[in-house]
Amino acid sequence: MSSSDAMLRVALPVPLARLFDYRAPDGFATADVPIGARVRVPFGARELIGVVVGSGPGEDGARETKPALAVLDGAPLLHGELLESLRWLARYAHAPLGEVLATALPAALRQGAPVPETDVAMWRVVEGAATEKLRRDALPHRLADLLASRARSEDELDEALPGWRTAARTLATRGMAESYRAAPERIASAGVPGPALNDEQRAAVDAIAAQDGFGAVLLEGVTGSGKTEVYLHAIADCLARDRQALVLVPEIGLTPQTLARFRARLGIEVHALHSGLTDAARARVWAAAARGEARVIVGTRSAIFTPLPDAGLIVIDEEHDGSYKQQDGIRYHARDFALVRGKALAVPVVLGSATPSLESLHNAQTGRYTHVRLSQRAGDAKPPTVRVLDVRKRPLDAGLSADLLAKLRATVDAGGQALVFRNRRGYAPVLLCHDCGWSAACKRCSTPDHPHPMTVHAGGRRLQCHHCGARQPAPMACPDCGGLALQPQGVGTERLEERLIELFPDVPVLRVDRGSTRRRDALESLLGELGDRAGILVGTQMLAKGHDLPNLTLVAVVGIDEGLFSADFRAGEKLAQLLIQVAGRAGRARRAGEVWLQTHHPSHPLLQVLISGGYRAFAEQELVEREAAGFPPFAHLALLRAEAKSAEPPAAFLSLAKQIFDAANIPGVEVHGPLPAPMPRRAGFQRAQLLVSAPQRRALHAALDAGLPALRDAPEGRRLRWSVDVDPVDL
Ligand code: ADP
Ligand code: ZN
Ligand code: ZN
Repeated sequence: MSSSDAMLRVALPVPLARLFDYRAPDGFATADVPIGARVRVPFGARELIGVVVGSGPGEDGARETKPALAVLDGAPLLHGELLESLRWLARYAHAPLGEVLATALPAALRQGAPVPETDVAMWRVVEGAATEKLRRDALPHRLADLLASRARSEDELDEALPGWRTAARTLATRGMAESYRAAPERIASAGVPGPALNDEQRAAVDAIAAQDGFGAVLLEGVTGSGKTEVYLHAIADCLARDRQALVLVPEIGLTPQTLARFRARLGIEVHALHSGLTDAARARVWAAAARGEARVIVGTRSAIFTPLPDAGLIVIDEEHDGSYKQQDGIRYHARDFALVRGKALAVPVVLGSATPSLESLHNAQTGRYTHVRLSQRAGDAKPPTVRVLDVRKRPLDAGLSADLLAKLRATVDAGGQALVFRNRRGYAPVLLCHDCGWSAACKRCSTPDHPHPMTVHAGGRRLQCHHCGARQPAPMACPDCGGLALQPQGVGTERLEERLIELFPDVPVLRVDRGSTRRRDALESLLGELGDRAGILVGTQMLAKGHDLPNLTLVAVVGIDEGLFSADFRAGEKLAQLLIQVAGRAGRARRAGEVWLQTHHPSHPLLQVLISGGYRAFAEQELVEREAAGFPPFAHLALLRAEAKSAEPPAAFLSLAKQIFDAANIPGVEVHGPLPAPMPRRAGFQRAQLLVSAPQRRALHAALDAGLPALRDAPEGRRLRWSVDVDPVDL
């Protein structure tokens, strides 16, 4: 066969920015293999699964083309809007299409598993069965009664009649009931009604309904203003038009509570997609969405790759949340990709937040997004009052001032709950020798100029690096001077918990952070156990959202001062969002809430503006500063990161990159660096970065298009790991 015959053009999950030609497998004509189907192909000594994205005359020139080994799908797996949007993403992220497609597919499908069946097991009574002969009120009788009105799925029976399986076997052996498989019902039942919308909520629902095809709606609503109610109404409208709705939530926001609320209100199956599911379960939801059976899908970041043949609405809850940006592999932003898909699908995209990202606010101000606001808490809930506690020169007990401890005591004595927020896991951030000044640093993450402290855990017995995961027992004596005066410095959530248990033996003290609650369910049951009882929660930002705590009346914020002085240009935005979100946990129900903010920098401008004018005032001011400094959203950035065991290869590679981008000479494009990364060493790797910026997106991409091919071919790039991150969030 000559290379001019039609070839399959296959996108493979390899870090090479090209497609690969294969002949159709023996016995297949090229035209028989659908575009968008997966194929198994030989690749060097390996076999890979790829996606056919085209066909045509071979482009691999002299290279001998091999036949694919197998075609895995009879119909396209990726097609239409989703395939086109993913092609767009590959160009935008400057990533190989094959890697983008592999990222978009659920793991099971990426590895070649067949598309799962999505029909469900059902039970029905056999016509003419003499079920009246069954003993009254025994399980088989009750099951037969239940099935007499209509057939039920096994899931429904699990909920309606515990122990139904034995009864079903009894009915089956007597020829009275039988099981069969069917496509899942998608008719919605009435659903329980929600509260009547207030005027602002009604206006928001109307603004979403008024979008003609694609339109972005920024729903800016203070915490507790009823944004979720607005989503639910918009989703119900979407279902009434017989369309699918996709809802994205942040990683720590997808609670069983949220799902239960959606199911109950919409009266329809709500399909969850998150990292806690098995590969098989994820593939099933994906397939159910692709077949149009799943009508409402609620998921975290990667759910943005769900196929939506009948799309009607996309909602991004907490659109400012950092978890929407994937930080390795294909570095996409789920919110931004949602807007691309919304446009391609011609459906509205709702971005909801109490603290919108500056990017989204800017887009709203320039008229690209419809801007609707919910300015008041829904129902009777009042906004919390905020008080700044100046703790300069005050003695602190485990980081807590006497005033704050008294306030905690008063809160629990009044039967309320308090949340002590500290964004540091572990017992203490540093282990210090009081005799000589030595402190424990991570061997794999420190450089002579940048020692990286290890966090003290387990009450002082263990040291752990929060960046590379290294762990070791804490030394008994100082490795430098042999002294025994080793002391944990500073306060983490563990130490706070320990001290609060001593001070408040009469109420439960619960710690909520990644160490205490590895799993979402664990968090739910922990909070469920507490219920409405008086008590104290200690936690990191895991507590900033998710579970509703109606009896929480006091939020105490301690030790945010590190965040006030970070070099990252986004640090202020992130801190302001976090503070507002945490404060929003107080007083969600009838009881008024209070926020006490303990700081050594009471007059810091960020705190001042937040307290006097709220997030909005902060954002206005920050946007002015971003514009003056030429930072996003007034500039577009790409970050090249490089790392190797020694410092020289990244420096050499990034210098070459700078030369190449400079030589491309695209007007407006500036190249900064190479510079050491904020963590110049991590897990034994020396890290450096190069920042490319431009006032226009187009110019930035022109520079990347001009420079990256040469960089990919450069021998300097072979001795290290490097990556491109378009729109980086951490600089
Ligand atoms: P958000 O997502 O904006 O923080 P939610 O949608 O979770 O707020 O609503 C906060 C609380 O207010 C919930 O308990 C919700 O049931 C209630 N709520 C929302 N809208 C109304 C309304 N119009 N009338 C009464 N209660 C409401
Ligand atoms: Zn010492
Ligand atoms: Zn480390």
